[in-house]
Amino acid sequence: MARRVRSVDELYAAARAGERRALGRLLTMVERGGAEADEISELAHLDAGAAHIVGITGAPGSGKSTLVGQLVTDLVSSGRRPAVLAVDPSSPLTGGAILGDRIRMDDTISPTMGTARRSDDGDDLPRAASPFIRSMATRGHSGGLALAVPLAVRLFDACGYDPVIIETVGVGQVEVDVVGAADTAVVVLTPGMGDAVQANKAGLLEVADVFVVNKADRPGANDVRRDLDLMLDLSHMTGQESSTGYRPPIVMASALNGEGNDEVWSMVEQHLAHLDETGQRGTRRTHRIRTEVFARITQALAAATERALDTVGADAIRRAEAAEISPNHAARELLTELLNDQHIEGLTS
Ligand code: GDP
Repeated sequence: MARRVRSVDELYAAARAGERRALGRLLTMVERGGAEADEISELAHLDAGAAHIVGITGAPGSGKSTLVGQLVTDLVSSGRRPAVLAVDPSSPLTGGAILGDRIRMDDTISPTMGTARRSDDGDDLPRAASPFIRSMATRGHSGGLALAVPLAVRLFDACGYDPVIIETVGVGQVEVDVVGAADTAVVVLTPGMGDAVQANKAGLLEVADVFVVNKADRPGANDVRRDLDLMLDLSHMTGQESSTGYRPPIVMASALNGEGNDEVWSMVEQHLAHLDETGQRGTRRTHRIRTEVFARITQALAAATERALDTVGADAIRRAEAAEISPNHAARELLTELLNDQHIEGLTS
């Protein structure tokens, strides 16, 4: 018997009631973007706002998945209900790399969790309390992450997941942006790869709230800690360290052996307490909202411009081509046209 297609409203209500399959379907819509994602956005913002958003980044192979797996296991044991969003900005349509990542991550969890399986659309795990683990690629549409990640996080939040952990696969600018937008940003480094220097170059020193030197069982871990300490001293001297006097702690861990995980989470919680005490949690939220609104506008505007160049703007382009008007003039004409009319989809609903 064919099942009736459920509306976004119905799926949302079911997801909030703990139905994992419904949440999986909604997340697929979020990932795709478009009208359904917009509908979800209209609903989720009303119910979100409680979750602690934690970003975790580090070079591929630094042990993020291992660490996240351990943290999630511990969180569930202590009665929390975590969600994990594994973000792969470089993965195009096929999502091959992220699939490997996801399986690895679930492997990490399953031996101890017992119940944790891949939280895909097809899965409908009976235990609402088990963690929800989901990977997200951009499906090749540029800048898609800037919209999909905050919405996915808000959806998890609205469905009662807390904390919401965003794990990224690398240390590029996109990852820095994604993780920097969290309440608490965790940066994972490892010995022997000049990681501290790399992290500094990538701008991670400025966004990190907690550093983890993972694989502390390997030689050179103390060198990484020392390098980091020196760089933090330097950033303190040059005024980069936060004006509230917060200095990101450095935790030595061996995620594979479960060593240091407790301390990592304890530092993450201490950071949240610091945000609450200083009122910075609100500041971060404001920053996130501003960034998201900015991303929405620029994307809608870019898409509308692209369409307009071949339609309402074709005449201006032709005149600029014939040197009757300057390209600057053509752009101004077109922008006026765009802003005066309903050419901008996605912001009009
Ligand atoms: P990710 O790419 O950052 O998610 O890294 P993974 O979690 O997949 O870990 C990469 C490799 O490092 C795997 O083979 C892990 O088993 C290994 N690994 C993770 N944590 C540790 C650790 O604390 N010590 C050692 N020696 N290896 C680790």
